[in-house]
Amino acid sequence: MIRKIVQIGNPALRQIAKAVNESEITSDEIQNLIDDLIETMRNANGAGLAATQIAVPLRICVIEVNKNPRYPYKPDIPLTVLINPKIAFLTDERISVYEGCLSVPNLRGQVDRCPEIIIEGFDREGKSVNFVSKGISAGTFQHELDHLDGLVFTDRMRDTSSLTTIDEFALNNEEEFKEQVMSIVEHYGS
Ligand code: ZN
Repeated sequence: MIRKIVQIGNPALRQIAKAVNESEITSDEIQNLIDDLIETMRNANGAGLAATQIAVPLRICVIEVNKNPRYPYKPDIPLTVLINPKIAFLTDERISVYEGCLSVPNLRGQVDRCPEIIIEGFDREGKSVNFVSKGISAGTFQHELDHLDGLVFTDRMRDTSSLTTIDEFALNNEEEFKEQVMSIVEHYGS
């Protein structure tokens, strides 16, 4: 079922989501919620969606990038369901990338992200997973995990003057950003 995505200003986005009880991951309730997150993300052409964005305060998010029309420059990420995810940074380096969010309509802004991270958590079968993510994709994971802690990308902006509408981004920033993304992908492989 496609759920309503709440927008910035809605208190649901500011809630710290609660961990899912491991024994409940395979329950119908959690499995249906995961299906709804995937369907809602795909319907909105999102690169990811966190449960807090549909006003469910549980630590679950889904990520998928497959030739995304909202972000044509993003490298693909296969569908990933993360439950109770945690991130550790593997480098002090940071990359500055433009992000957008289904909960912050029509805006993009520059955020600093760690380009090498390790993520651990559970998948939808309740199996523990851990993997390294790099480059642009690492930023996508950090964006979704932030939602589980009540943060949106605008909170992470070092310089709020980079905030731009999507139309202005396309006019003023997209060409340069595409080149930056290509060099990040070349350097980090994703
Ligand atoms: Zn978001």
